[in-house]
Amino acid sequence: MLVEGAILDADGARPGYVRIRHGRVREVGQRGTDSLRGRERRIRGIVVPSPVNSHTHLGDAVSVREPPPGPVARLVRPPHGYKFRLLATATPEEKRRALRGAFARMAHDGVRAVVDFREEGVDGVNLLRNAARGTGLRTVILGRPLRRPIDRAELASLLRVADGVGLSSALEESLETRNAVARACRARGKYYGLHASEARREAPDTYLAPRPDLLIHLAKATSDDLAVVADAGVSVAVCPRSNALFGRQPDLAAMERAGISMLLGTDNAMFHAPSIWRELEFAYVATRLRGRPVSAAFLARAALVEPWRWLGELDAARVAPGMPVPPLVLRLPPDDPAYQVVTRTTEHLIVPVEPRGRATIGP
Ligand SMILES: [Zn+2]
Repeated sequence: MLVEGAILDADGARPGYVRIRHGRVREVGQRGTDSLRGRERRIRGIVVPSPVNSHTHLGDAVSVREPPPGPVARLVRPPHGYKFRLLATATPEEKRRALRGAFARMAHDGVRAVVDFREEGVDGVNLLRNAARGTGLRTVILGRPLRRPIDRAELASLLRVADGVGLSSALEESLETRNAVARACRARGKYYGLHASEARREAPDTYLAPRPDLLIHLAKATSDDLAVVADAGVSVAVCPRSNALFGRQPDLAAMERAGISMLLGTDNAMFHAPSIWRELEFAYVATRLRGRPVSAAFLARAALVEPWRWLGELDAARVAPGMPVPPLVLRLPPDDPAYQVVTRTTEHLIVPVEPRGRATIGP
């Protein structure tokens, strides 16, 4: 297959062609210079790296009804919020089925990696790990130890199966807990992340010490806070739809100005389908609604480039022969690629690049 149009990746947007065979990029070049001279199926479109969903709580997918009204804290705060009561009453089989559904949805959307905050301790991590088998998605699981004060043995077993720890926030977890978790993660080369400034502003030194690998939300952070976060070089995953549901918005324009490495996530699966494309379009529109527009290029990077950098796999975000993860081909007009990709992509526009049979997920 030969895609003629544009490439949008870690090196930005440019016109060009990409030749793909069996899901692998074989050749990339300037339009009209390909070696095939019309012998292969041609498609007009945009080639992008596969997106990453950088913040989810897929376990919540067991919820199938509209959540009750109320502040987010009452809904998702451990250990007695609506969400935790729901998780406690669902059977492992119900959770597994819900997780498989969420993975199928993401695979259909072309997502190739997901960073999930998994509650419910070691069992929660194992459940997600098992549900992720055979989905074709790289699943980065930040688990959460159950005992407080931190039980070293529990934390060690958690980190044997998880890729790190994702805590609720510095409002709910003591400095002692955060220090113990961050130290254990660092010692084992694992990730430590937490939610910050979601419902109300927190001072950056509360969530930046100990230093996390990932912050979630920063919906209430000021421009000065964001400058401190940018200086610290800590990546931030934002979830505009989830915030909007509770009447807030992260200031993405200020994040862009501050030079933050921003990632995009869909947050709680009980509130929103884990669709990175819906999240992208909403983020673009929401910043206009607020009168603080963000560039389409910055948003595209948050889904397609920055998460791969965060994972230490920037090669997956460069459309070139030998890229380790297959790219996506989108049937979109190639003239303004970032704008098209951010505001127009749906799963129907994804052209399959691999032989059928890959990444098909049953329940
Ligand atoms: Zn979250």
